[in-house]
Amino acid sequence: MNLITDKCFIDGNWVKPVLGQLLLLKNPSTGEKICDIARGTSGDIDLAVAAAQKALKGEWGKMPAFERGRILSKIGQLILTKIDELAELEAKDVGKPLKQAKADAIAMARYMEYYGGAADKIHGQTIPFQSGYTVYTLREPHGVTGHIVPWNYPMQIIGRSVGAALAMGNAAVLKPAEEACLTALAFADIAHEAGLPAGALNIVSGLGEEAGAALSSHVGVNHLSFTGSVGVGTLVQAAAAKNIVPVTLELGGKSPQIVFDDADIDAALPFLVNAGVQNGGQTCSAGSRILVQSGIYDKLLAKMKARYEELLVGDALEDLDIGPLISERQKDIVTGFLSQIEGDAYIAAKGKISPDAPKGGHYVEPILLAGVDTKHVLAQSEIFGPVQVVIKFETEAEAINIANGTEYGLVAGVWTKDGARQMRLAKAIRAGQVYINNYGAGGGIELPFGGVGKSGHGREKGFEALYGFSVLKTVAAFHGDN
Ligand code: NAD
Repeated sequence: MNLITDKCFIDGNWVKPVLGQLLLLKNPSTGEKICDIARGTSGDIDLAVAAAQKALKGEWGKMPAFERGRILSKIGQLILTKIDELAELEAKDVGKPLKQAKADAIAMARYMEYYGGAADKIHGQTIPFQSGYTVYTLREPHGVTGHIVPWNYPMQIIGRSVGAALAMGNAAVLKPAEEACLTALAFADIAHEAGLPAGALNIVSGLGEEAGAALSSHVGVNHLSFTGSVGVGTLVQAAAAKNIVPVTLELGGKSPQIVFDDADIDAALPFLVNAGVQNGGQTCSAGSRILVQSGIYDKLLAKMKARYEELLVGDALEDLDIGPLISERQKDIVTGFLSQIEGDAYIAAKGKISPDAPKGGHYVEPILLAGVDTKHVLAQSEIFGPVQVVIKFETEAEAINIANGTEYGLVAGVWTKDGARQMRLAKAIRAGQVYINNYGAGGGIELPFGGVGKSGHGREKGFEALYGFSVLKTVAAFHGDN
């Protein structure tokens, strides 16, 4: 892959940012420079939106749904031929261990195949109405869709949001994160190679407060998909409100994993730990609160402790359990949280940083906390690092209260063999996804995903995303009766 990084991808071409400015991209495993990237600003966003509008009036806008689908499927197939290259880019850029980066590349391919197959299967309905009328609905693209993406899962998030938007015939403008955007830029080349017409996808890298703010407030944008923090999501929603533009917000979480006395704890154990430390805990759906019923609390804590003590952190290319955090800033945030351990709270277990981990990397040891008060900041705030809290509970009602006791509601895991309890919990928990006797359902690209409360609103993934990335038009034709 001959990657161009210091330009924006607009109207099918790599072009210099209008102000000619660049940003430094660093490898979080080493702290060393990887390359320069374009620092796009409002001028580049103007060009990208204009290119998208032109594409909607041209070949892309006129293309039958099944042909759009074919191109998306081809993008998926091309991604599958470049898994190793994409994974290496992501490992260097995000600090994600290679195995996980490969899984993300495969997921991006799956999104393209899934939405490629779905492109011509979303349709309207006919509606029985008064005599003399024929009434039907049409599913139409919004027009230009803006996609603002974070650094933690670039390939998966591009797959689920840009894939669904293109399937419905929108033209996309993508603003990847300034901390990690190499696979987004690689995606532009792959899409171009697969035959995506010029302007259907445009990519402007740059700072959030410059390119991101320009995209979210642009009058030419008809729909916004934002994945990131609550703080920035609030700004994006406010900017969208000024233009009365629909917005999907995929924000953070403090998701519970609830383990009852009757659970198969050996089956649960790898999920319980992995859901908290995968990607260094920098995962929106991290299962960062582990709620354990008192009868198995000591036994499970001992098993988790043993698992934590095996965890090894190091260079993403070494492909250990955990890589570095994305930046020194993120490391400061995590260590800031850890400095607030107080009262009965204590460190129950720690993982290790490999002695071979490069000195300039942003490494922290994974940490398991116990004894934390459920209202304490450590049990309430998204830490976005490899830190989990274990909380003891007695009754089902108490578990539900604790699970629902944060401002978030992204996902939840429930471990129990009791079928009736599984159903009760699935209903009682306030979250966008509930997993029973698993966590994450293997990423499940077919499964609608999104939050309630401060975890956001709107759904991506699955067929549901296709409704979000389209607009329903009702046609009521009066023709009279014979
Ligand atoms: P962030 O909000 O700082 O940045 C996300 C994106 O927004 C980046 O591309 C950034 O450049 C852009 N941005 C920053 N300021 C902006 C502004 N003023 N206007 C417009 N865009 C702006 O988030 P982050 O730290 O990169 O990501 C971590 C957060 O994302 C966590 O809270 C995590 O839970 C959340 N997240 C959620 C999901 C989900 O699906 N729910 C998935 C991944 C990450």
